[in-house]
Amino acid sequence: MPYPVVHILFFVFCVSAVAVYATFRSISQRQATFGSSLNLLLLLLVGSVCTLLPDVMIIYNLFVNGTIEYCWIGSIPTHSLLFSFSAIVLGTFAGYVVYQKVAKAIYLGLFGEVAFSTHLLLDDACGASCYYFYPVYSERISIFPFMNISFLETGVLNYLIISFVSVSFLCLLIMMALYSLHHFGFEFKYEFKG
Ligand SMILES: [Zn+2]
Repeated sequence: MPYPVVHILFFVFCVSAVAVYATFRSISQRQATFGSSLNLLLLLLVGSVCTLLPDVMIIYNLFVNGTIEYCWIGSIPTHSLLFSFSAIVLGTFAGYVVYQKVAKAIYLGLFGEVAFSTHLLLDDACGASCYYFYPVYSERISIFPFMNISFLETGVLNYLIISFVSVSFLCLLIMMALYSLHHFGFEFKYEFKG
């Protein structure tokens, strides 16, 4: 599975690409301010911490038990959507402490959830399946092999449904990231150039 630095770089430069782009554009147009830079730093800090949360138990186990086990916190798998609530709570708490506004706190919680989920996807893409739907479904699942399925094996209808569902999961996360970033002032703009 990828090392922490890859998780952070993936989250910052791929999932948060719009924030990086908007910041560079703002700096190049000399519109960046100290406040706007702090805003970006907070987002990236919360996102970076949340994207590492699934592996956080390695710190505890390394110092307390002398092992490098990191996939469980008690009986709960850390690579699951259930444990991703910890990212929502952490992001929302940090957002409320900094902004003192419930709406902004919730958007930062949403951003934290996306950051956490990208960790699962990156692990998944590198061959490690995750307990996405624990405890509803307690087995490991891998999403990416579904994208490689052939309609000769499943039939055209199943192929279309599986393709749509698996890509929709990725699309949902990217849209959540864009939606959250939009509420913190980061966005691309559409200008019709006829
Ligand atoms: Zn992991």
